[in-house]
Amino acid sequence: MIKMKKFSIAIHGGAGTILKKDMTKELESAYLDGLREALLSGYTVLENGGTSLLAVETAVSNLENNILFNAGRGSVFSHNGLHEMDAAIMNGKTLDAGAVAGVTNIANPIKLAMLVMQNSEHVLLSGQGANDFATEQGFSFEQNEYFFSQLRYDQWQVLLGSDNYALDHSNPVNEIKDGKKFGTVGAVAYDQFGNVAASTSTGGMTNKKYGRIGDSPLIGCGTYANNKTCAISCTGHGEPFIKAVAAYDVSCLMEYKGMSLQQAMNEVVHVKLVKLQGEGGMIGVDSHGDTAMIFNSAGMYRASKSSDSKMEIAVYK
Ligand code: ASP
Repeated sequence: MIKMKKFSIAIHGGAGTILKKDMTKELESAYLDGLREALLSGYTVLENGGTSLLAVETAVSNLENNILFNAGRGSVFSHNGLHEMDAAIMNGKTLDAGAVAGVTNIANPIKLAMLVMQNSEHVLLSGQGANDFATEQGFSFEQNEYFFSQLRYDQWQVLLGSDNYALDHSNPVNEIKDGKKFGTVGAVAYDQFGNVAASTSTGGMTNKKYGRIGDSPLIGCGTYANNKTCAISCTGHGEPFIKAVAAYDVSCLMEYKGMSLQQAMNEVVHVKLVKLQGEGGMIGVDSHGDTAMIFNSAGMYRASKSSDSKMEIAVYK
């Protein structure tokens, strides 16, 4: 019998002050179901001999379609009442990357990011231009109502009269004010051909203004993949992650300092980001297919599975 080559995938659905005491049983199981379903959608691609690129696109699309997560359908409200979304995908084999920022009315921004990578000469398209590209690529646009959820609306109403913005996952309105709930979804994978890939998608921050863009669509900050080292997808307060060039820093620590994935992620999440008050976390997979999920916040929605290990799904520390 031919032994199947190793493959693995890890996903996240955001990090932040996610505490068991704030969670109902029903909500907790809805999150766990959502994570399981998304993880298995990507895992199945890998199991059937698909690429890590397709696996991370599939898993993130699945999370974008789930209203519980702040990406695609469940995206938060910007100050102008729209849902302005960011997404990125990167192929560790070729270093090809595609990203979109501030796109509106697109159900699956990650699919658009993939087409930026495959069908344009560019890496990052933003705003109306990215929407025009989507039209050219035959995308259909969803009505604003598609993205509506009462919870996100209520969160936005709390902040609307102010200049404040907040990173929020989905916790009660009174907790948004501390700005410590994060959204965003992401996936990293290692396929049977030995290639890694990463993808990240987000609605960003509630009540964000001025076309604010976070770390998620910025290659090297919230998303990075390189077969030499690892694939990384981040979640958390975007600005410190941008300043830390967080995802690429993990790769650099591995490439230039010879650290393992786990050591490099610990260094970035627990030392570098902490110094910049960067609350959040990241998931990673290395060039042997080993995964890690590390965060400095109270919780991170996360799940992983490889061909030689059991499924792991967790929320709290
Ligand atoms: N990092 C994302 C941003 O700053 C938000 C998040 O991860 O929840 O846009």
